[in-house]
Formats: sequence, C-alpha cells, structure tokens
Amino acid sequence: AKADGRGTYRFFETGMDARAQARRLLEMDLRAALQRDEFEVHYQPIRDVASDRVVAFEALLRWNHPQRGLISPVNFIPLAEETGLIIQLGEFVLRGACADAATWPDDIDVAVNLSPVQFKSPNLIASVTAALAASGLSARRLELEITESVLLQNSEATLTTLHELRAMGVRISLDDFGTGYSSLSYLRSFPFDKIKIDRSFVSELATREDSMAIIRAVTSLGRSLGIVTTAEGVENDAQLELLRREGCTQAQGYLFSKPRPASGVALMLERPRLR
Ligand code: C2E
Ligand code: CA
Ligand code: CA
Ligand code: CA
Repeated sequence: AKADGRGTYRFFETGMDARAQARRLLEMDLRAALQRDEFEVHYQPIRDVASDRVVAFEALLRWNHPQRGLISPVNFIPLAEETGLIIQLGEFVLRGACADAATWPDDIDVAVNLSPVQFKSPNLIASVTAALAASGLSARRLELEITESVLLQNSEATLTTLHELRAMGVRISLDDFGTGYSSLSYLRSFPFDKIKIDRSFVSELATREDSMAIIRAVTSLGRSLGIVTTAEGVENDAQLELLRREGCTQAQGYLFSKPRPASGVALMLERPRLR
C-alpha cells in the first residue's frame, strides 16, 4: 500500500480508483440535490455601454449545498454533462429564468447558458417552447448562449437547430468568444445575434497590446456584421472606458454587480453599481 492519506489507501484496497469514487459520490450528490431543490438561478446584469442602462440579465446556476454553501457551476457542470444530468439541470435553469424574467420590466431580456449536450438533445426546441409557454415570456426576450464547441461537429444539425430557435424569435449568443477553437468563419456560417468576448481578453485590456487589438477587431467585426458585442468580466473603469472607446455594445462584470439571486434584480436595476 502507498503512504498516502487513509482514504487513498482504502480506495486501493477495494480496487477502486480514488477519482472514480469521488466522481460517483458527486454524481449521487447531484441527483439528490435536484430532488432536494438545492439549485438556484442567480442573475448578473448586462449593461448597454452607450446608454449605461441594464438591458439584460445572464442566468447563472448555483448549487446551494447545505454544508458547502454556494457552489459554482464550473465544479459540477462537467460531471453533469457526462452523466446526462445536465438535461434536467438545464431545463430547471431555462424554466426558472423564463419565469423570473416574465416578472421583470418588458425591455429587460434574459440570457441562459446552454450546454453542448443540451443543445444537441432532440428535446431542446420542445423544452424552450415549454419554458416560454409556461412563463408567458415573449421569445424576443430570451437569449441562448452557446459556446464554439457546439459548432465543431455536425454543423448541418446545428444550423437547423439555430434556425429553428431564431424562427421562434429567440436570439443566439456565441459565448466565450476567442477561447478554444474560434474561427471567424463561424460568424459567417452560423446566424448569431451576439458575440460575448471572453473575460480573459478584457482582464488584459490595459496591459496587453494584443488583447486590445483583438477586442478592437471583434467589436469592429460585430459592427460590420450587425452583431452585438458584449464584453465579459469588466471589473474596473479603465476597462469600461477602453471598451466604450472601441464601440463595444454591452458590458458585464463585477464592476456593475456580481451575480445575485432573483430577489436582488430590482436593486440591480435601480443601482448602476452594486458590488
Ligand atoms: P460564463 O457563461 O462565461 O459566465 C460568466 C462567469 O464569469 C460566471 O461564473 C460569472 O459569475 C463570472 N463573472 C462575471 N463577471 C465577472 C468579473 O467581473 N470577474 C470575474 N472574475 N468573473 C466574473 P459562474 O457563475 O461561476 O459560471 C461559470 C460558468 O459555468 C459559466 O461561464 C458557464 O459556462 C457555466 N454555467 C453557469 N450557469 C450555467 C447554466 O445554467 N448552464 C450551463 N450549461 N452552464 C452554466
Ligand atoms: Ca455565458
Ligand atoms: Ca462567457
Ligand atoms: Ca467564460
């Protein structure tokens, strides 16, 4: 046996890999959490840079764990995707976000993240339709955020789904733009309404010439293609000023507010900055 911690020793003893065991526990925990209603949807404001008004909120999933407190989705979404639980979780977010947004002023939209697994599910259109119908939210107020990984395979089916969603009136954002496999040809081949410029470029805006150049290129591309550009992760005034100068359409980040529960939306609408 190895001189590792006791837990590791026991995993070796039972012939089970420690990581596999930890994953099984997390999976059981996730299933139980769904049943126990431990998930909630938080919201972060997205502001129009020119008018400085809130135009939308992004719905961000949280696991309110009885012992561990609020858990960020980065810690459980990968496993939820592998196990298929993301379908149920995704529907929970979609239904919750549409229901919440239906209580907001008419000119405030809601953005919901879609996992690639969810996007490829044959039930996607039906569950979006159901969430809109149940909430009474107009499709025009719903934005769906997808990442570039969705575009990598089966582009025929992807294109069909994107067109179906847009025919319903739903808008589509390309999330985390600039990370991963970004290709400018995506912008020509797929019908996007919005590009979200990844936080990594925004955080280096003031210190790295190349980040500045990329933001300049993307905002100008967005302008000429008629696509809205949103900068993620805006944390200070210097970044906001540079984005304004480049003509970036929207900004989102801790400078304005961190994500808060639905009960915080009224306050986030009232106050330009709430940290
Ligand atoms: P994302 O879609 O890129 O969401 C933005 C993330 O950046 C959020 O993290 C948000 O809290 C964080 N953020 C916002 N402003 C700032 C800032 O100024 N500075 C910094 N450092 N961070 C900022 P969060 O909520 O932990 O979510 C992480 C990721 O998990 C999301 O990245 C998204 O990919 C995924 N996710 C969240 N909710 C859902 C969901 O309902 N479904 C799916 N499929 N994925 C989700
Ligand atoms: Ca997002
Ligand atoms: Ca993003
Ligand atoms: Ca991101």
